[in-house]
Amino acid sequence: MFSTAIQSFLNQHHYPALNIKAVFFDMDGVLFDTMPAHAKAWVIAMNGAGLHFTEYQGYLNEGRTGASTIDNEFVKVFGRHSTEEEKQHIYKQKSEHFLSFGESMPIPYTYELTKKIKAENIDRLVVTGSGEKTLLDRVEQFYPGIFNRQRMVTAYDVKHGKPNPEPYLMALQKANVKPWEAVVIENAPLGVQAGVAAGIFTIAVNTGILEDEVLHQAGANLVFGNMKDLHDHWDKLIRQ
Ligand code: MG
Repeated sequence: MFSTAIQSFLNQHHYPALNIKAVFFDMDGVLFDTMPAHAKAWVIAMNGAGLHFTEYQGYLNEGRTGASTIDNEFVKVFGRHSTEEEKQHIYKQKSEHFLSFGESMPIPYTYELTKKIKAENIDRLVVTGSGEKTLLDRVEQFYPGIFNRQRMVTAYDVKHGKPNPEPYLMALQKANVKPWEAVVIENAPLGVQAGVAAGIFTIAVNTGILEDEVLHQAGANLVFGNMKDLHDHWDKLIRQ
């Protein structure tokens, strides 16, 4: 199963081999189980503005900027763009509700996976569109010794967020590796699109409520149903 996915990836890009030297981890939904709170907060904020919005839509839009998530809904529902004031108001509501749900815990088995990868002397980077300072601080708390704060790619580093490949292209630079020497681990369709557009082997782990099919359609080279599944298959995967 893995060898077919890897071979078709190599053929598509005319790469010599998949020789993994670095793994790029998305944060929301991969390192931390933040998506349920994000999705619920979006529903409350959008409904408050008279926009019908579901948690499923919240998951589909993961990674998109708040402003463009809001604007897309305005165009769909009201047939016009949102004003700056409306965007700010709704996004403020969303952020306040998100914070009110309290701190999210790590996704089970992600830490075990990162330890395994570190033991293999494979580099680890966080690549996120998030600029949540408290969450970035919590990376060190919950993933001690795994990541280096100076080498994270966050909202502060990039001009274009996911699904643009920029964050992952920057990660290749920071890790000083070629696209066939890295692997991306993502949970969201837009994140998967970004990894794929950067020409990197992209593994989707479905830690949320989306159909697996959505992640396949986004271009994921492999889709796992949960983090334990990826953790358990990791050795087999990198020995291909
Ligand atoms: Mg994510």
